[in-house]
Amino acid sequence: MRLSLTDKCNLRCTYCMPAEGLEWLSKQAVMTGAEIVRLVRIGVEQLGVRELRLTGGEPLVRADLVDIIASLREAHPELPISMTTNGVGLDKIAAALKEAGLTRINVSLDSLHEETFAKLTRRPFLDKVLAGVDAAWAAGLGPVKINAVLMRGINDTESPDLLAWALERGYELRFIEQMPLDADHGWTRKDMITAAEIRELLSPDFALSPDPRERDGAPAERFEVRRRDQASGEAKGPLLGTVGIIASVTEPFCSDCRRTRITAEGKIMSCLFSREEFDLLGLLREGAGDQELARRWQDAMWIKPKAHGMDHTGLGTPDFVQPDRSMSAIGG
Ligand code: SAM
Ligand code: SF4
Repeated sequence: MRLSLTDKCNLRCTYCMPAEGLEWLSKQAVMTGAEIVRLVRIGVEQLGVRELRLTGGEPLVRADLVDIIASLREAHPELPISMTTNGVGLDKIAAALKEAGLTRINVSLDSLHEETFAKLTRRPFLDKVLAGVDAAWAAGLGPVKINAVLMRGINDTESPDLLAWALERGYELRFIEQMPLDADHGWTRKDMITAAEIRELLSPDFALSPDPRERDGAPAERFEVRRRDQASGEAKGPLLGTVGIIASVTEPFCSDCRRTRITAEGKIMSCLFSREEFDLLGLLREGAGDQELARRWQDAMWIKPKAHGMDHTGLGTPDFVQPDRSMSAIGG
């Protein structure tokens, strides 16, 4: 289950938000901590939710974040609870998140160069994010995963450096293909760096071989990484770690997808690309009981599409329509 805590964010990544931001939801419209805890309980107790990821918008901008995690942990001592964050301010709160019961963390980081980072996120916060990643590691929120989106002509050539940086520190880097979920509707097939290109970009420096571990519905295809010997072109030396590639567009994994998503205003989305939503929070606020909420949630998931409509070549089927919501407003 992916649950968005807020639609607000303190960055403006070009592949997600417009420069001026979006019209934020009112405080009233966003789920309260108690509502979140109730919906998660229904998901876990009645619908077989086995893992929870908190996301946004930027989850760290929510003032009651630590309390929400502590309440979720109290209700579900064994549930894996992870969070995806841009890492801004994480250095100050990582220890408290761990203490409250957060299991592990993903930090989004697309560049290690100040200028490129600022160009991509439209904010000069690289140092803050790096401090956040270190603090998450030190607080025991590992394994720390790093999410990177590559943009043609901006940070694509940085991919081997990003991987070397992550491997040195023991972080698992995952490259995510850019999806047509930007508020500006600027996504083009031509500019998207495909999974095949990512493997090529890494190949002069690194030899990748399929990770033998079961993928088990995970969005990332994982590879074991070794250095490549420049002279022979063969893999050389010890296993350095793994890298993941999330090829949602060109190598979709829809048939294995088991995710259910709840937006910050309590709407169920059965897929990132859904154009239909079900207002679960509205029903909850009208006084519906747990059984009814569970049944309606289930109904909303039965219409989960078979596939997202961009074909395996990434060219898109003629009837593919970009959803109105941007990634930040869905909860990626
Ligand atoms: N603000 C947090 C962050 O950036 O990690 C959490 C929410 S963000 C929407 C979750 C993930 O979605 C991030 O790793 C981000 O890079 C990714 N993302 C956003 N827009 C995307 C797009 N158009 N295509 C692919 N990934 C995207
Ligand atoms: Fe904010 Fe995350 Fe979207 Fe970047 S990707 S604008 S950090 S929500």
